[in-house]
Amino acid sequence: MKAEIHSLLPQLIDHGLENTEGLLRVACPEGTDEISKQPTPNDKDLVSHLAAPKQAKSISQVLQECASIFESRVATQHPKFFSFIPSTMLPVSWLADLIINAFNPHVGGSLAGSTCDIVEKSLMSWLASKIGFSADEAAGLSVSGGSMANFMALTAARDKIVPKTENHHLAVIYVSGDTHFSISKAARILGFGKDQICQIPGLEPQTLATSILDDRAAGRIPMAIVATLGSTSTGSIDPISEIATVASENNIWLHVDGAYGASILLSASYAHLAKGVEKADSLTWDAHKWLFTSYGCGMLFVKDKQCLARSFAAHSDFLDAGGRQENYEFWDLSLELTRPARAMRLWFILRALGTDRIGEMIDRGVRLAEEA
Ligand SMILES: *Cc1c(COP(=O)(O)O)cnc(C)c1O
Repeated sequence: MKAEIHSLLPQLIDHGLENTEGLLRVACPEGTDEISKQPTPNDKDLVSHLAAPKQAKSISQVLQECASIFESRVATQHPKFFSFIPSTMLPVSWLADLIINAFNPHVGGSLAGSTCDIVEKSLMSWLASKIGFSADEAAGLSVSGGSMANFMALTAARDKIVPKTENHHLAVIYVSGDTHFSISKAARILGFGKDQICQIPGLEPQTLATSILDDRAAGRIPMAIVATLGSTSTGSIDPISEIATVASENNIWLHVDGAYGASILLSASYAHLAKGVEKADSLTWDAHKWLFTSYGCGMLFVKDKQCLARSFAAHSDFLDAGGRQENYEFWDLSLELTRPARAMRLWFILRALGTDRIGEMIDRGVRLAEEA
């Protein structure tokens, strides 16, 4: 197998998957390349028969099959593609992926993850400092995406604000009309009913405060406010500072969903738009949106790492649980145990481009949006 791959590798790099113009061309499409190609009914039929064969196929045949599968897709990294928000993979992220996947480090904990674990922790501390969180108390970690980050944040909020299971049905989550649907999905998975989500247009702070008082008077438990930093459809930003004041006066968890918009924190010209985010209890921030990585690179930051540990730390016979109070392993802070080195993609991009240039690229995105 190794010899077979070895003989194919130069061919793969030089000419790409057969029937295409090369992997590099795929990763760096030109303006004249097709943006979207959808499979014909015939393509669909052929591809749907490519499940697991009883007998082995040669690697070169499997590569050809790969090419036929990937050929039809929306090339979201195309220079003329402006449609979805998760869209902007840079070719350097693809290069990082190749290397990361060859090494395949297990970043569930510090033993197998070793130096990748250190790099992820220091990168997350740096990003936490951009949010305005204290490096000692906060924690940040890479997760599969914004939906996972939102789910984990709401879990941490529930376990802090409504610790007793028998009270979960009394909890209330405050959202706006622009809140991403991953929040209601997470709430449902966490066992909350639809009537436990209270929608307040624009999360207008005075209306929010009144609703909270009314809910408390009715015996309910205001649990979390979810503010959006960059809504998916228009990029709008809730009044985070004012909402944070309401949250702290009422002892409610403030989660900021900045899946897309939190990257504005790295812009020299527009970082002020995220003002107030430092007062949040948690923040969702996707690198696979406005930080140019390939897909599967979201991040969650919490102001107090104990809150993630309360919800996610686990003890098991086969994992050493001793002495972890100060230095949590990533598996103590996450739903996941086995974690790929996702943060290394972001690290690679930041090293290869420098944060000044990344900031300028974010500014360019804002200017393009203004022009549109
Ligand atoms: C994209 C997005 C999400 C979901 O993130 P995924 O990485 O797609 O799971 C959540 N919130 C907002 C505001 C988003 O733009």
